[in-house]
Amino acid sequence: MSQEDEFKRTIVYADSALDYIKTNKLPAFPRNYELWYSYASGFNRALNRTINKILARDGKISPEETQKIYNRFLSPNRLGERIDEVGDKISEEVRELISALDKGTLKTTEYGEELARTLSALENVSDRSQLSKLVIHLAKLTTETAESNQELREQLVDSRRQIGVLQEGLEAIRYESLTDELTTLNNRKHFDQSLVRAVKEAEESHAPLSLLISDIDHFKQFNDNYGHQTGDQVLRLVALAVKQNVKNNDIACRYGGEEFGIILPRTTIEDAKVIAEKIRKNVVAKELVKRSTGENLGRITISIGISTFRPGDSAESMVSRADLALYAAKKAGRNLVKAEEEKKIPSVTQVA
Ligand code: GH3
Ligand code: MG
Ligand code: MG
Repeated sequence: MSQEDEFKRTIVYADSALDYIKTNKLPAFPRNYELWYSYASGFNRALNRTINKILARDGKISPEETQKIYNRFLSPNRLGERIDEVGDKISEEVRELISALDKGTLKTTEYGEELARTLSALENVSDRSQLSKLVIHLAKLTTETAESNQELREQLVDSRRQIGVLQEGLEAIRYESLTDELTTLNNRKHFDQSLVRAVKEAEESHAPLSLLISDIDHFKQFNDNYGHQTGDQVLRLVALAVKQNVKNNDIACRYGGEEFGIILPRTTIEDAKVIAEKIRKNVVAKELVKRSTGENLGRITISIGISTFRPGDSAESMVSRADLALYAAKKAGRNLVKAEEEKKIPSVTQVA
C-alpha cells in the first residue's frame, strides 16, 4: 500500500473512532480512542463481537463496559495480569494446603504422644473403673483423630480439584501467548523459541532440519482492491493450506503480517522442496469468492524460500538464507519455490 493509501485508510478508521466516542458520549481518552480505532479497523474480531453484542442488547455502551473490554482485549498487561492472578491463587491454595498438612501432622503427633501416655497409665491400672475411664479416653482420642484425618482428606481432595482448574487456566494462558489469533497458527514468539531449539537439536543429533518462509505475492494490491478484511480471510486460507501440508512435528507459524515460517525438523532440503511445492500448489488452486457478495476475486499466489541446516548455523542465519531464497523466488517471477544455494566448496588455493 502506498503512503497515500495508508494515510486514507487510517484516517477513515480515525474518523470512525471519534464518531463512536461521540455517539456513545465517552471521554476521548487515548485508551478509548485505541479501543474504537481497533473496532473501526475490524482487526480484532473477538473485540468487535463483544462490542456488537452489547450494542445489540443495550443500544449503547457505558464507560465501565468500555474499560472492561479494553482490559480484556487491548491492555498490554492483560496476559501478565492473568498470570499474576492465577499465580496468586496457586500460592493461596498451597498456603492452605501446607497449613492443613501441618495441622494434620500435629494432630497425629499429639495422638501418638497421648497414646503412649495412656498405654503407660494402663500398666499401672488397679481397678475396673480406672480401666474403663482409660478405655473411654482412648476411644474418644481415636475418634477425634479419625475425624481430623477425614477433614484433611476432604481438604486434600478439594485442593486437588482447585489446582486442576488452575492448571487448565495456566494452559489456556500459555496457548494464548503462543498462538496467532487470526490464523490460529503459532505466533512469532513461538517461532523464535522453536527455531532456536530446533537448531540446537540439529547441531546435537546431526539430523537434517529445514526452514520454509512464505510470502503472499502482491498482497498490498489485493488489500487495496478488496479491502483489509477480505485480505485477512485470505491469510486464513493460506494458513489452512500450510496446516494441511505439515505433519505433527513440523512447526507452522505466522512469522509476520503475511509471511509464514515453517520449521521442518528431520527434513532434508529435497523433502522440504516437496512440502513447499504442495503448499504453493494448494494456494494457487483455490479460486477466491467473496462470501458476502459472491464476487470472484481470482486467485492468489505465494512464493517460498527454503534454507537447510549447516553446522555452525544459528536461528538467525537460517532465517536470513531462507529470506534470500524467498527474495530470489520473487525476483524470478513469484508463485515459485526456491531453495538456498548449495554451499560453495571453498576453492583450493594453488601454491606454485
Ligand atoms: P510481494 O509480492 O513483493 O510480496 O508484494 P506485496 O504487495 O505482498 O509486498 P509485501 O510483502 O512487502 O507487502 C505486505 C503487505 O501485506 C502489506 C499489507 O498490505 C499486507 N498485510 C500485512 N499484514 C496484513 C494483515 O494482517 N492483514 C491484511 N489483510 N494484510 C496484511
Ligand atoms: Mg511481505
Ligand atoms: Mg508479499
